[in-house]
Amino acid sequence: MPKKLSSRLVKKNRYYSREQAAKAVGGRKQTIDVWVWRQGLKTVNGFIPGRDLIDFMQARSAARRKPCKPGHVFCLGCKDSRAPAFDEVELVRHETNGSAIIRALCPECSSVMCRNVSREQLADFARRYRVTK
Ligand SMILES: [Zn+2]
Repeated sequence: MPKKLSSRLVKKNRYYSREQAAKAVGGRKQTIDVWVWRQGLKTVNGFIPGRDLIDFMQARSAARRKPCKPGHVFCLGCKDSRAPAFDEVELVRHETNGSAIIRALCPECSSVMCRNVSREQLADFARRYRVTK
C-alpha cells in the first residue's frame, strides 16, 4: 500500500529543496521530482515554496476525494460510491447519539460496503431502501 503523504509538517513561509520537501511530506525525492517535472508543482530557483507545496498537496487530495451521494454507500472494491444491491441495507449497530453503521452489498462487485450514517442519513436510507437488522 502506498505511503500516505501529509503536508502537515510543511512550513508555508519556508523554501524547500527537493530532498527537504520529500522529508517534510514523508515521501521520496523521486515523488517530489514527478510533482515538479510532470505535475506542475512550482519552484523558485530550484526551491519549492512551502505555501505552493501545501496548496499542491491539498489540490491533489481534493481531486481524489469521492464523497458519497445521498443514499449511496462507498465500495472499497470499486473505489466508488454506489446504491446498495437489492435496495437493501443492513443496520449493523446503532450508536447512542442516533447515528449508525450500515452495511450493504455492492451491485457491481458483490463486496460488502459499509458506511457510518447520521440519524438524518439513516432516516433517508430508511425512506429509500429496506433496512434489515
Ligand atoms: Zn464494488
